Amino acid sequence: MIKENLEVVEKNICEACKRAGRDRSEVTLIAVSKTKPVSDIRQAMDCGITVFGENKVQEIRDKTAEIKEPLSWHMIGHLQANKVKYLPGVACMIHSVDNIKLAEEIEKQAAKKDLVMDVLIEVNMAHEDTKFGLSPDEAADFVKEISTLRHLNIRGLMTIAPYTDDPESNRVYFKGLRELRDSINAMGIPNVKMDTLSMGMTGDYQVAIEEGATFVRVGTGIFGERDYSQKING
Ligand SMILES: *Cc1c(COP(=O)(O)O)cnc(C)c1O
Repeated sequence: MIKENLEVVEKNICEACKRAGRDRSEVTLIAVSKTKPVSDIRQAMDCGITVFGENKVQEIRDKTAEIKEPLSWHMIGHLQANKVKYLPGVACMIHSVDNIKLAEEIEKQAAKKDLVMDVLIEVNMAHEDTKFGLSPDEAADFVKEISTLRHLNIRGLMTIAPYTDDPESNRVYFKGLRELRDSINAMGIPNVKMDTLSMGMTGDYQVAIEEGATFVRVGTGIFGERDYSQKING
């Protein structure tokens, strides 16, 4: 099942790249394994997947403790400052930076480990009340504000588009995120040169790739529906 799903996703990514005149190597598939057991992750690993996404710090800790193979773990979910200390050296990138307190805590914890943490700024492109992230018009000032933190490498922007049955309706948000990245880059803020756009999920990753996504975050399309009624690792 996971193998077949991955074949479909890979084919869709290749076709979207072709439509957009992009090289397949420009897009990294993040397999979003949240709520899914290690056995599912191992099936994806057997298909060559090495990049995984989780939205809870505890789940990253549990899974990295159990799986010893070298993999890349992305923290894609909302993050509380008091959990940051577990991530440097464990997660390779944090996609959900949207406030100064969180950025300063990442700075502090990365400095303690003497490493530089790759981060993305989360932007709420559709101004949804239910979602975290900065509004688009706050993003540039925020980037400027945290650009002086020496243990943060601001790699780009991330957005979670609205849930929809019509992926085309999210194109405007993906295009908007790309334009926002380009306009912030053009401001010439010292130390800021963003190359990354994390956008597109199971319902809309092909459109996101057409609009410039460099990371797509696909969960359901690989691992199937999530069951939140059951505890994992239990
Ligand atoms: C769960 C999640 C995804 C994956 O969602 P699917 O619709 O299952 O592909 C992507 N990004 C974030 C931030 C998530 O929390």
